[in-house]
Amino acid sequence: MNLVGQIYRTNNGSIDKNIVDKIYTDGFNIAQYGLYMKRERDYKTFKVAVDAGFSCPNKDGTTDTRGCIFCPKMGRSISVEYCNIKYSLKEQIECQIQQNREKGISKFYVYFYPGTNTHGPLNHLKKLWDYALSFEDVIGLSIGTRPDCLENEKLDILEHYVKQGYEIWIDLGIQTMHDETLDFLNRKHTSKDVERVLTECKKRGILVCGHIILGLPNENWKMMMKTAKVLSDLKIDALKIYPLVVIENTELELLYWKGEYKSLDEKQYIYLVTDFLEHLSKYVIIQRVSKDKVPNEIKISPEWSLKRLRILNEVSKELSRRNSKQGFKYIEKF
Ligand code: SF4
Repeated sequence: MNLVGQIYRTNNGSIDKNIVDKIYTDGFNIAQYGLYMKRERDYKTFKVAVDAGFSCPNKDGTTDTRGCIFCPKMGRSISVEYCNIKYSLKEQIECQIQQNREKGISKFYVYFYPGTNTHGPLNHLKKLWDYALSFEDVIGLSIGTRPDCLENEKLDILEHYVKQGYEIWIDLGIQTMHDETLDFLNRKHTSKDVERVLTECKKRGILVCGHIILGLPNENWKMMMKTAKVLSDLKIDALKIYPLVVIENTELELLYWKGEYKSLDEKQYIYLVTDFLEHLSKYVIIQRVSKDKVPNEIKISPEWSLKRLRILNEVSKELSRRNSKQGFKYIEKF
């Protein structure tokens, strides 16, 4: 058995609630990922984002060709220097590890980022995952994918890495737990798919970080708070929360120019994230509350700065102003 992860990890396939409790005892009002990691281990980690050339079943004709209404028709909307298919996987991983070692970071996750990174044959996926884990000081994987693209055979391979001591995260595009909105967004998966993935991952010690969008078309406040509650009840491990960003060359852009979709203003978004956190379990680790990797040249709306630390500070201030904190309006189920 490979002991890499066992030496460095203490969470063993789940979030350590005692550590999260310490975050609040220390006076913080959000279970921030950075605070959690700092308390859990005495070394710094970095996610090496890689582009392994995956397409998406919602675009390549497997389930549809339209894609989600907020997803650009062409190309990839991210801007991470070495996360680029023009470099080999080896170059992408080695360059980023080297850059970050110089900053004092000693352990790494390989983050399969653009596209649907479980959309491929089992042997191809296994080869990629084995390769990523073969680099020195890589202690785990983070795999970006969709809820309808994680069959049990794929999860079984990932479970095998967990058993070897690696830390395996699924970065799961959820967006909302309301099927009518998923339908409008042309996501081509349902909330039941999310439930299944969360249940199967929990059984296998695979951690799940869900991606949620606030301010989706036709969603009211009550619906968004319900999403917070349902995901908390399902014991999701972590979340990245984003505002809906209108990017050029998307169906959402057309709705925006026709006046059929209006972005939230900054204050509305900050209040919504604050409300959402209050309705979420205090044990869900918050990885992000904004989306700041969208290049300005392709961003149509909103106009306000998406800088995530700035938004995080504003949300934290708003929680303090309310004398509240994450989980304040959620009844924990043990
Ligand atoms: S699932 Fe992701 S990659 Fe696929 S169309 Fe939707 S946003 Fe784009």
